[in-house]
Amino acid sequence: MEILIAILVLGSLGLLFGIGLAIASKKLAVQVNPKLEEVSHLLPGANCGACGNPGCFGFAESLLAGKTTLESCRVCNEEVKEKIAKILGLALEKQTKKIATLHCNGGIRVKDKYLYNGVDDCIAANLVLGGQKSCVYACLGFGTCVKACPFGAITMSAEKLPVVDKVKCRSCNKCVLVCPKKLFSLVSVTYAVYVACSSHDLGRDVKSVCPVGCIACKLCEKTCRFDAIHVIDNLAVIDYHKCTSCKECVPVCPTKTIRIRE
Ligand code: SF4
Ligand code: SF4
Repeated sequence: MEILIAILVLGSLGLLFGIGLAIASKKLAVQVNPKLEEVSHLLPGANCGACGNPGCFGFAESLLAGKTTLESCRVCNEEVKEKIAKILGLALEKQTKKIATLHCNGGIRVKDKYLYNGVDDCIAANLVLGGQKSCVYACLGFGTCVKACPFGAITMSAEKLPVVDKVKCRSCNKCVLVCPKKLFSLVSVTYAVYVACSSHDLGRDVKSVCPVGCIACKLCEKTCRFDAIHVIDNLAVIDYHKCTSCKECVPVCPTKTIRIRE
């Protein structure tokens, strides 16, 4: 008899709690905007944070709240952006793709100033006297950018320099942020040339440690018919607003520092 009463009490309590939970789940349910689900489903799920939001879902929330623009996502392609724009009724600005571009061509050609035996990591190596390279601006070659790229777009060459696959690169900016030497920048695919050096040292000092660095000779500056390249603080700098990609500066550079994007 006592067992029966216990079963009845527990059963009634279970039924009561069950009904309570069912009502609560209906009453307290958080209404999810179906557009939010649709948009977050279309996003790549890379969660790279390049848009300034904590992941793709955060970006979708900001987008619906009007706090960000679709153009801020550097990872999704134009097709996906067009689909999202359609769902949200947004106008989409056409953007040219940008590719991570390395502004150093030194690699194993740059003399070492000491033998580094530490962790295989550019940030760690940079903590020891700015790294093992005699040029303080040079790529350290441990491939920290390779590990940071969420899309497998960077590999290391035989010269110990990062090589960016322009098809795989999604302009997420991770390599730009992680490189302790700040050697990457995002350059539009429409620009054919770039300066593969970041050294601000005097020409004679560059020459003594690296055969491919800018020696600030200004030959490119004198050659350019469009006033698009200038030596500023011992380094050639291209003004992409003026550059016509005529490539005339490329052959005149004695150190082959101005390179054509492959
Ligand atoms: S001089 Fe320029 S190309 Fe040479 S190692 Fe330094 S940054 Fe790189
Ligand atoms: S021609 Fe080459 S080495 Fe001379 S200033 Fe221009 S980039 Fe530098």
